[in-house]
Amino acid sequence: MKYIKVVLSIMIVVVFGYIIIGEFAFPNNTPRNGFLCYQFPTDNWYIITDDGKKEPFELPGKAEGDIILETTIPEEIDKDANAMCFRGMDMQIYVDDKLREEYITQDYELLGDRSAECYVMASLYPEDAGKTLRVYYEYNSGVVYEAYYGTRIGIWAHFFSLYGAELFVGIMIMALGIICYVSSTVYRLIYKQYLEMQHLSIGVLLGGCWVMSNSIFRQFYTRNISVMSDIPFLMVMLMPIPFIVFIDSLQEQRYTKLLTAAGIIDILDFVVLIVLFISGNMALTRSFNAAAGCAVINIVIISYTIIKDASRGLMESYIYVAVGFIVLGIAASGQIIAYIYAHNGVFSGFLMSLGLLGFLICSAIHTIKQLIGIRLSANEAMHASIAKDQFLANMSHEIRTPLNGILGMDEMIIRDSRDSKVKKYALDIRSAGNTLLSLINDILDLSKIEAGSFEIIPVEYSTASVFNDVLNMTRHKAIAKDIDFIFNVAPEIPCELLGDEIRVRQVMLNVINNAIKYTDKGKVKISIFARSDRSADTDENGIVLYIKVEDTGRGIRKEDMEKLFTSFQRLDEKKNRNIEGTGLGLHITQKLVELMGGTIDVESIYGEGSTFTISIPQIVVKADPIGDFGNAVDKFINSMEIDKTSLYAPDAKILVVDDNEMNIDVLIGLLSDTRIRIATADSGPVCIERVRADKYDCILLDQMMPGMNGEETLKNMKDMDILHGTPVIALTADAIMGAKEGYISKGFTDYLSKPIKYDKLEELLKKYIPEEKQLELKPQNEGLPTMLIWGTDADRIRNAKENLSDHYKCTCVVGTKAMEKYLEKHSPDAVLHII
Ligand code: ADP
Repeated sequence: MKYIKVVLSIMIVVVFGYIIIGEFAFPNNTPRNGFLCYQFPTDNWYIITDDGKKEPFELPGKAEGDIILETTIPEEIDKDANAMCFRGMDMQIYVDDKLREEYITQDYELLGDRSAECYVMASLYPEDAGKTLRVYYEYNSGVVYEAYYGTRIGIWAHFFSLYGAELFVGIMIMALGIICYVSSTVYRLIYKQYLEMQHLSIGVLLGGCWVMSNSIFRQFYTRNISVMSDIPFLMVMLMPIPFIVFIDSLQEQRYTKLLTAAGIIDILDFVVLIVLFISGNMALTRSFNAAAGCAVINIVIISYTIIKDASRGLMESYIYVAVGFIVLGIAASGQIIAYIYAHNGVFSGFLMSLGLLGFLICSAIHTIKQLIGIRLSANEAMHASIAKDQFLANMSHEIRTPLNGILGMDEMIIRDSRDSKVKKYALDIRSAGNTLLSLINDILDLSKIEAGSFEIIPVEYSTASVFNDVLNMTRHKAIAKDIDFIFNVAPEIPCELLGDEIRVRQVMLNVINNAIKYTDKGKVKISIFARSDRSADTDENGIVLYIKVEDTGRGIRKEDMEKLFTSFQRLDEKKNRNIEGTGLGLHITQKLVELMGGTIDVESIYGEGSTFTISIPQIVVKADPIGDFGNAVDKFINSMEIDKTSLYAPDAKILVVDDNEMNIDVLIGLLSDTRIRIATADSGPVCIERVRADKYDCILLDQMMPGMNGEETLKNMKDMDILHGTPVIALTADAIMGAKEGYISKGFTDYLSKPIKYDKLEELLKKYIPEEKQLELKPQNEGLPTMLIWGTDADRIRNAKENLSDHYKCTCVVGTKAMEKYLEKHSPDAVLHII
C-alpha cells in the first residue's frame, strides 16, 4: 500500500501538471466564436436634459435620478452581434424611437416600490447599425455603467471573466460555512462540547450570503431581485454579531462587557434601520453608512481586545484567529472604502469575500488545533483514569492484606480472650476494620462506575435466598437499636428471576442499612413487591421489582434532597456526625439502579422519616410465587441462635498457600479449634511440590503472589493433573463483589475474600471437606444446667456466654421474638436477659 500511495501522488501531479501546462503554456485554441462582447464607444453619448437639449456625456459616468441617454449605434457592428446590455434599475430601451425592451419593477404591497440594479439585455439586429439608441434610466443610484453589445453568451462570459472569482469565492465560503456549522453542531450534540467554530461558521455563512446577494450574477439565482438587493445591507448589520460571540468565547469572556456593548450597538442599529426601512422613511441603500459605521466600531473593539491580549501574553491560544481577524479587518475596511470611493463601475465584494475566506481558513486551523487539544486531553484523561483504576486496585490489595492480618488476629483475640475489657477493644477493632473494608469496596465500585467499566452481570437467582440474606444482614442491626423491623415480601413475587443478584442485594442493603442507621426510634418497614413490566414489550417475562423502605428516622431537609445522591456528600453533618458513613452509598446505589435500568425515588419529611423506593426491571425465570415469606423469616429467627455446630475435623488435611506469613498465621489461628491439619506453602512452586507429594482435602490458594500467582499455579497443577479433584479455593485481597463468577470461570472451585471472616471460612470448609471427616465435637459442658441468654446486643450476649460456659450449657438468641420462639420449644434451667 505504501508504494500505491507514492504512485498515486505521482499520477496526480502528472495529470494536474498537464492541465496547468495546457492552460498557461500551450497556444489558445478553444473555439470562442459566438462569444462576442464589445463596449459601446464611451464618447458618443448625450444626456437629454429636462428642456429636451442634448449634452455630451461620457459613459460610464455619474448621474442621479431619472435620466435619458442617447447614442448612435456604430455602423460597423459584428454580423453575429445580437444583443445590447445595460446595467441600471428600471429602464426602457428605444431604437429609432421604437421601444425595443423594458424592465419595470412592479410595485408590491409590503415594502413599496423598489427597483434593484441588474443587467438588462435588448435585441440587436444588423439593420440597427447607424440608428439612434435611447435609454431611459429610472431611479439611478448615481452611476451610469458601461454599455455593451455582442452575443448574449459573449456578454455574460465577459462579466464572468470580471466577477467570476467573486462568485466562486462566495460559493466556497457558503459551502465551508455550512460544513463548519453542521459539523460543529453535530459535534456539540454528540460530545456535548461547544466548539467556537459554531458561531464563527454563522458569521462566515452570513458573509457568504452577503457576497452571493451582492454578486452581479444574482439575477441567475433569485426570483425577486428587489428583495435580494436588500440582503447585502441587512447582512452588513448582522455579520459582526456572531464574530463578537466567537471572539468572546475565544478570549474566555475577559472582555465580555466591551464585546456585549458592541453587540448591543449592532442590534440597536439593526432594529432602528429596519423600522425606518419598513415604515418607508429610509431606503436600505441609505443605511449602509450607519451599518458600516457599526462594523468599524466592532472592528475597533475587537482589535482593541486582541491587542490587549497580545500585550498580556494571552493571545497565544488563538493566534491563528487573531491573524485571520487582521486579514478580515483589512479586507472589510478596504471594502468599505471601495464602496464609498469606487463609484465608477460595478461594486464587487471580492475583497470582503477574500478576507472572509482568509479568516475562515485561519479559524479552521485554530479549530483543528482545538480538536487535537480535546483529543489529547481526552487521551490523557483516559490514561489518568486507567492509572487511577490500577492504583485503586493495587491500593485495595495493599490495604486488604494488612487488614486481613489485623482482623484475623483480632478475631482470635475475640475468641480467646476472657477479659471483657480486652474483648470490647477487640470488638471495636473489628467494627472499625469492617468499616474500612466496606469503604474500600465502595471506592472500587465508584471508580469502576465513573470509568464506565462497571458491568451488570445477569444470573438466575432465587428471590427468597436474596431477601433472606438481606434480612439476615440487616435485622439484627435494627434489633440492636431497639427499633421495629418489618419485612414484608409480597407472596406473588416469582421465585426465580434473572438479574444481577449481587447488585440487587447491594442496593437493598444500602438503603435498608441507611434507614436503620438514620432512625433512632420507631420503625423501619421494608415492602418488596413486583409488577409486570408493561414497557418491556419485547419480553413478556419482564417484571419490575419494587423495594420500598420506610423509616421513622431523622428525615432529610428539602434543600438537601438534590445533594442526596452526590458522591462524598453527607447531609445534616452536625446531627449525623456520630454515624459512620462516607456519603458514597446512595451515589453508588443510584448508579447501580440506573445501570440495571431502574429508578430510585425519595420522599422525606425532615424530623419525621423517609421513604426510599427502588424499582428494578428483572426477567422472570420461574413464575412460581415465592409464597409466604414469613416462613422464611421464622426459619431465620430460629437460626438466630448464635451456637452452631462447629467444624471439627482432626482427620482433614488442607493446604494454605500464601506469600504473606501473617495471613498464614491468621488462618492457622482461626482454624485451631477445628483440629484440621494444615500444611502451608509460601509460593506457587512450593504449593505444586506439596500437592505432588501429598493429597489434601482442600487447597486455599492466594491470588496475588510474587512470581507464579494463584491463577498460574492452578493452571500448572491442572496441566500436570496432580489435583485429582481437590477443591481449590481462591483467596484474594483485591476482591470486589461479583468476582466469584470470575474466579469460578478461571477454574477455581470457590472463592474467599480477604480479610477472611471465620464464618465464611468455616462455611466453605464444611462444604468442601468430605463429610465423613467432619466429626461431632463432644461438648465439654455435657451434664451442666442449661441457660438461655438473650438480648439485643449479640456481642455482649457472646461475652456473657463465654463467662458462664464453665457453669452452664448456654444457648444464645438475639431479639424478643427469637427468645419467645426458643422458649416455645425448650425449657432451659435458667434464662438470662442481657440489657
Ligand atoms: P452515608 O455513608 O453517609 O450513609 P449515603 O450516600 O448512603 O452515605 O447517604 C448520604 C446522606 O444521605 C447521609 O449522610 C444521610 O445524611 C442521608 N440519608 C441517607 N439515607 C437516609 C435516611 N433513610 N434518613 C435520613 N437521612 C438519610
